[in-house]
Amino acid sequence: MNSFSYERAASIDDALQLAAQPGAKFIGGGTNLLDLLKGGAERPLRLVDITRLALADIAELPNGGVRIGALARNSDTANHPLIRQRYPLLSQALVAGASPQLRNMATTGGNLMQRTRCYYFYDTAFDMCNKRLPGSGCAAKEGQNRIHAILGASADCIAVNPSDMSVALAALDAVVRVRGVQGERSIPMADFHRLPGNMPQLDTTLRPGELITAVDLPASPFASHFHYLKIRDRASYAFALVSVAAALEILDGVVHSARVVLGGVAHKPWRSLDAESALIGHRLDQAARSAAARLAVQGARGYAHNEFKIELARRAVIRALRRAELAEGTI
Ligand code: SF4
Repeated sequence: MNSFSYERAASIDDALQLAAQPGAKFIGGGTNLLDLLKGGAERPLRLVDITRLALADIAELPNGGVRIGALARNSDTANHPLIRQRYPLLSQALVAGASPQLRNMATTGGNLMQRTRCYYFYDTAFDMCNKRLPGSGCAAKEGQNRIHAILGASADCIAVNPSDMSVALAALDAVVRVRGVQGERSIPMADFHRLPGNMPQLDTTLRPGELITAVDLPASPFASHFHYLKIRDRASYAFALVSVAAALEILDGVVHSARVVLGGVAHKPWRSLDAESALIGHRLDQAARSAAARLAVQGARGYAHNEFKIELARRAVIRALRRAELAEGTI
């Protein structure tokens, strides 16, 4: 591990000043960053501890929405009455992630910032990883790529975003609030994570030194018909091979609005507007579910070891939509 300085921020302004130097990184729960530090995949020069900042509240917004502070712990968010009542899809996705111990430490902001679990990104014995060493190549393309992307990948990187929470936030039209030395701005979830393109070292559209302060959820029509389906190699404490956040607003038996977002398949939560459009105005029969599922994976491409994820994702969409329709969500 490289040596670095450690500072504890006393205020948001203090944190922004401390993080203004090159090589600085914020640390909250540390559930991902500490692993990356120990393995040498991340080599910051300064850690700015933000855990004492007053950013852990979960509160109603005047427009019927809810604001989740960046330091709200994943377990607190999942169990909060406002989230369970209004955004049970988010509770379900959070509970599907990691382990109880990790959820007690992990924060909203940290979950948004967690990095891919590509083996070659973590293992510094490999010197081919464009995300860790820009310009070095991508060992996963010809290597072990069972967990990698089937959608939105580039010639430079085929990694996936590992977050469950982010998939649900994308389905719920969340907005990420950030602060930088130049002021505040809001980033829709659809624009927060990015596809790898030719700059896979960048996971998000955050500017250097910006701090996530909160996530805003707008009022939602998806509290009755929702399902977060996570398919993984073992029943708990594993990342998704494929996940689906399905949310439906059903009026008189007809789909009025819908969300279909895939996780574990791309460098960002993969929302399918085509799949959603195919559902709207229809009764949710087998034909409608199948059509939406086909559209959700259109353009998918597999590699040597992950071709199976295309059919798995298609079937997962069908199952998640059926469970959402039946309101079988459990949180
Ligand atoms: Fe690195 Fe991305 Fe290739 Fe993995 S998939 S080795 S993270 S460049």
